[in-house]
Amino acid sequence: MKRGFLNSSKAKQLIDNAVFTQQHPSKNRSHKVHLDFRDVATEPGLPDGYESPKLFSREVASSTLEYDPNAYIYTCVPAVNTECLVSGHVKRMIYDTSAFPVLPLPPTRGKAYRIGEAGAKGLGMFSTRLIRAGDLIIDERPMTFSPANNAGSFVNPKIPNSHYTLAQHKQVIQHETEKSRKLLFDRLPLEYQKAFMELANSHEHDGSGSIVGRIRTNGIECVGLRDKDTTGDLGRYTCVCKDISRINHSCCPNANYCWHTESFSVRVYAVRDIPANTEITIAYCEILRTASERAKYLLPYGITSCACSATCIDPALSKISDERRVRFNEGSLSLVPSIDSFTAPKPGEAEDRGSHTAVKWVQEMEEEGFQVTSEYRGAAYMLANMYAYLQDVEKALFYAKKLEGIHKAFEEKTPLFLTEEAVKSSLFYQLGKGRR
Ligand SMILES: [Zn+2]
Repeated sequence: MKRGFLNSSKAKQLIDNAVFTQQHPSKNRSHKVHLDFRDVATEPGLPDGYESPKLFSREVASSTLEYDPNAYIYTCVPAVNTECLVSGHVKRMIYDTSAFPVLPLPPTRGKAYRIGEAGAKGLGMFSTRLIRAGDLIIDERPMTFSPANNAGSFVNPKIPNSHYTLAQHKQVIQHETEKSRKLLFDRLPLEYQKAFMELANSHEHDGSGSIVGRIRTNGIECVGLRDKDTTGDLGRYTCVCKDISRINHSCCPNANYCWHTESFSVRVYAVRDIPANTEITIAYCEILRTASERAKYLLPYGITSCACSATCIDPALSKISDERRVRFNEGSLSLVPSIDSFTAPKPGEAEDRGSHTAVKWVQEMEEEGFQVTSEYRGAAYMLANMYAYLQDVEKALFYAKKLEGIHKAFEEKTPLFLTEEAVKSSLFYQLGKGRR
């Protein structure tokens, strides 16, 4: 076992895996300050007289899983080639994932994107041919994987009880977080270091260092992996990819992304047909929010005035869109498919009377480009089942087929019926047979 200063260049070359035992900030009551990556700004620089703690490292075989669950480890996951700063608990979670590490999936019908200029947004990802709804555009392993907050940084435990003010305490945490992420960055191959530093940094003026700033701007949440006994914003993880981190935001995105631990990768799927030479976009915020609410969430990504589409540029269109977004967001519960809404109509009522809201929603959401929302999926799903119940095979298939690509994009294992025979053998069709 070797011990050495991590900040000596010789040590960096020797160290394959460095382990530090450091309680998660949420579990150490003396750490009152928690910096989430969505926090913007405190003063830059360090308080006078502050001395950074010296770090000692311990080398461990990369296959080791016997860690204190709350210790943080620098490790390159073998066969995956991602540099990770990870708790003992999460490292075990990764290795215990069944099928880990399977290979990333090939894109549907071959590579169909390029990275190119996207105007004021800098670089972006563009389609090189028509991409169909449900097609996998890219399945990429990240360059870095690290906590989505200040966890894993080594703040002297005496600091919270010192004379420092809250603002100064935050400065210390920001400094130490940058230091810990710089160690991660230094372990990357030169090619990845270059790609990482070429990514946008919208946190140049809020005290974030150049590494943390880029993680905050470009990080993608790794849903499903979190530190032991943490909830909410604490304990989450984020990754930075070479190509996927180039994908810009849209308030009506044409793609959806999801994290997969078994392949240790991020998959991006088209949620509607994307014509050739079109920018591929994902949502950085909840899209069924008003323009002013979205603006708040987009600010930490350096988006001061979203111009993703005509809806965001034109005030009149924006007003119409806001009204729709609020309505879709607040009305979702009324769309849960229920047999009660399919019961026999009273005299003078249309059989499909319960469908009118959903039909309008599907139409409006397609106009807005909201195929990625669960509200769109819910409305189309309800209509497909309702028309199956009413024995209207043609209309049932019309709505089911709208979901075909979206089901693929969300990797749903049991897609809805897609043939006449399948409609006729569906539960709702069978239930509807005896309705009169
Ligand atoms: Zn927008």
